[in-house]
Amino acid sequence: MTTVTFDSLNPATGQVVGSHAKQDAQAVREAVTLAEEAARWWDELGAAERRRRLLDYKAVITGQLRPLAELVHQETGKPVDDAVLEIVLTITHLDWAARNAGKVLGRRRVATGLVGLNLQATLEYLPLGVVGVIGPWNYPVFTPMGSISYALAAGNAVVFKPSELTPGVGVRLAELFREAVPERPVFQTVTGLGETGAALAGDPRVKKIAFTGSTATAKRVMAACAENLTPIVAECGGKDAFIVDADADVPAAADACLWGALSNAGQTCVGVERVYVVDQVYEPFMRELKARAEQVRAGEHYGPITMPAQLDVIRRHIDEAVTSGKAVTGGPESVRAPYVDPVIVEDVPEDSAAVREETFGPTITVRRTRDAHEALELANASAYGLGGTVFSRDTRRAARLARLMRSGATAVNSVISFAGVPSLPFGGVGDSGFGRIHGADGLREFTRPKAVARQR
Ligand code: NAD
Repeated sequence: MTTVTFDSLNPATGQVVGSHAKQDAQAVREAVTLAEEAARWWDELGAAERRRRLLDYKAVITGQLRPLAELVHQETGKPVDDAVLEIVLTITHLDWAARNAGKVLGRRRVATGLVGLNLQATLEYLPLGVVGVIGPWNYPVFTPMGSISYALAAGNAVVFKPSELTPGVGVRLAELFREAVPERPVFQTVTGLGETGAALAGDPRVKKIAFTGSTATAKRVMAACAENLTPIVAECGGKDAFIVDADADVPAAADACLWGALSNAGQTCVGVERVYVVDQVYEPFMRELKARAEQVRAGEHYGPITMPAQLDVIRRHIDEAVTSGKAVTGGPESVRAPYVDPVIVEDVPEDSAAVREETFGPTITVRRTRDAHEALELANASAYGLGGTVFSRDTRRAARLARLMRSGATAVNSVISFAGVPSLPFGGVGDSGFGRIHGADGLREFTRPKAVARQR
């Protein structure tokens, strides 16, 4: 039998990084069969031993930090230091999930509230069995592990389908797990293109799918899951807004805005893509932002666009933005495939694709608003609702704006910070998806609550 393979490429050089099997539906079924048995074993091992093993896994990844970061660099093109940061954040989440699963999910007594009945009740969160994780390429360690760590800590076995752009990283994560848990295949990887993911989503023995990727693919995954009523967590795209209020610390806002827009070359689901600045501080903010952006160059300060097809979207959005608005920095000439220099455009109509669609590149649109209310209204007009930012020195005002922002999370006087905090739930509203990963909600997402009522 011949194995059909595909290559992962270094997006900066075009060189082959690795060759991987296109695993078909039969191979996926075999992985799920092994996972079912491993899930029973992992559940019976108990919370305390699972915690120990997951902390062993943490130690193994920590010991392999540099080589793993190097592999992430090769498959995505991002600088090695950025890959190191991604892995450090992953380790922090893994540690939190391992240490807190027992507390969050373990059996506890619950008051019944039934007067005159001698009834005792308990509640416990039980593992689901086999969880399928389908991941993207932009943070090939942090993003899938945000589901995998929590699913494993909750007592499930995981079959992981990494992106076809970063299969080597996915395979390595499961190999490293085997060093901490050699007895059973509790965490396996299946490699391939979309069909491999579809086979995983369509397997009735998979009890939950944790999907992270584009909104369009999430709909296809949901359709495959509908056949077996398989529940899904959908972590999809974003078009995050960044609001600068009249009393904001302008230089700090400009720093944060640029970092949020350019880190990972803008290929971040919670990257800054739309900026709304209140009239009083518009001129000084734009001066600060422009001055900073002009110091930055793709290839020196951040890496290439990882997925070649995304360059077409970025190019289309830049062309549209500079035609309908006013370029502040950069323009069509900023696209030097596979690199894209920073592009800032102001006064782009709110109904244009550059403002409505996810760009996933180092480009932002900026608009002047009368006040913070108008900024919030425009921020909330997006179909997406993943993250967002508010800059204001007034704590109460900022808290109110953050609460009213239609997003899963909002950073105040910082950017993207919420994603790194393991105890905070992460996820979106609208086209950004549903369900939550990270934190106690993320642990419970991979369980079923089990209630027991006992008459004494
Ligand atoms: P994508 O949707 O193209 O692919 C994601 C995964 O789905 C890949 O592993 C792919 O092989 C698989 N897939 C494709 N077709 C499938 C099918 N029919 N059935 C099952 N699986 C299938 O997304 P991408 O380009 O890898 O990632 C970029 C997107 O991910 C962006 O929209 C970004 O915003 C989003 N993202 C979201 C988050 C979040 O937490 N919300 C995090 C990172 C990235």
